[in-house]
Amino acid sequence: MEFSSRTRLRQARLAGDRRELYPHSLQFYLEPPTESISLVEFESFAIDRLKLLKVVENLGVSYIRGNDVYKTKLEAELRKLKFPYKALAEDDYEARRKDHISHFILRLAYCQSEDLRRWFLQQEMDLLRYRFNELTDSLRQKFLEHVNLSFEALTARSLPSIQSDERLQPLLNHLSHSYVGPDYSVQKNTGKISLDQVDALSVRSFPLCMRQLHKALRDNHHLRHGGRMQYGLFLKGIGLTLEQALEFWKKEFIRGKVDADKFDKGYAYSIRHNYGKEGKRTDYTPYSCMKIIMSNPPSQGDYHGCPFRHSDPELLKQKLQSYKIAPSGITQILELVKGMHYQLACQKYFELTHYVDDTGFSLNHPNQYFTESQRLLNGGRELKKEISNSGNSQQKNNSQEGMNSNSTLPSSKATSDAELEGLDEYFTED
Ligand code: SF4
Repeated sequence: MEFSSRTRLRQARLAGDRRELYPHSLQFYLEPPTESISLVEFESFAIDRLKLLKVVENLGVSYIRGNDVYKTKLEAELRKLKFPYKALAEDDYEARRKDHISHFILRLAYCQSEDLRRWFLQQEMDLLRYRFNELTDSLRQKFLEHVNLSFEALTARSLPSIQSDERLQPLLNHLSHSYVGPDYSVQKNTGKISLDQVDALSVRSFPLCMRQLHKALRDNHHLRHGGRMQYGLFLKGIGLTLEQALEFWKKEFIRGKVDADKFDKGYAYSIRHNYGKEGKRTDYTPYSCMKIIMSNPPSQGDYHGCPFRHSDPELLKQKLQSYKIAPSGITQILELVKGMHYQLACQKYFELTHYVDDTGFSLNHPNQYFTESQRLLNGGRELKKEISNSGNSQQKNNSQEGMNSNSTLPSSKATSDAELEGLDEYFTED
């Protein structure tokens, strides 16, 4: 390829400008990014950084920080997501730009509450430590000379102006509760389980949050609206058809204080709505872990939420004991909970209940937990559609351990949590 001298000059100038903008692969930036970027790029940078930080979190509790496996895995992730991974080794302007902008976006998204702030700072500190330690002595020296380490107060002060930007605020709110993965909404799974399997599946393949909701429903023949939303959408995601869902909820509710007529007039509508058959006809998606952990905390009499986040540690301990988790396993889970690594605590629960050393996946979604569990229990077999005894009674004992489950597969349709807005209003009855 040939370039004219003017083009070469322009490119050299551009390269010089770029180097000046990001002279070091590692950054301690003092100025927020000022360039204009598209909303698409804004979101994709933020999601990539979130993926990176999730890996940092996962590695940080799975390996000794800084050991060879830790470093190899982290470098692989940095490469994959196109963040800078070798200090000053190449002209990685695009990677440095992404590093700068994505960090700032997540600062905005994660400065909004103490919980979020703490999580973000912890992961960023680990990432910075890793990257700093990867520098050669001379680069480290250069970097330290270059940066001004004087401290300025938290990003939260920028929020009032950002909050008035109606394009950015929903994105930032969404990001801080963000889940990056399939949404488990499409009908691919539908009809693959029968109602009489739900009890057994709840013991073997449901994450603790859903197992807790299922048990509460069986015990009380009722769930309040937060629980119905969380559990109902999960069940939809694992494959219950609308007809199955109506039958499932009705059979249970009429065993309690709700008669059939009241159920048909009130609750049935909300279930149909849940499946996109009423109201705005939105095909609602099951909740991700972040959504469950970060929003709508349970109050007394509620069973929704994440037990690793919302249960009293002593109660959680008792629950785990009753599920026959070994004392050493309980200690590990409680340690993770103490460090606010709720999803990792849940992964540990998966390992202990499935007798594996490593889940091999990074947990982000209750339906992902279910799918991975089924894949494992079925020996990784392709899933087949098999409707057996559909419509039979599901009134079995909760402690039923024997399982003859079929499986479900995840979907890949991406929709935002924002689509759930408006659904709550249809679940007004307690
Ligand atoms: Fe449920 Fe996620 Fe909490 Fe596990 S981490 S219990 S899947 S919300």
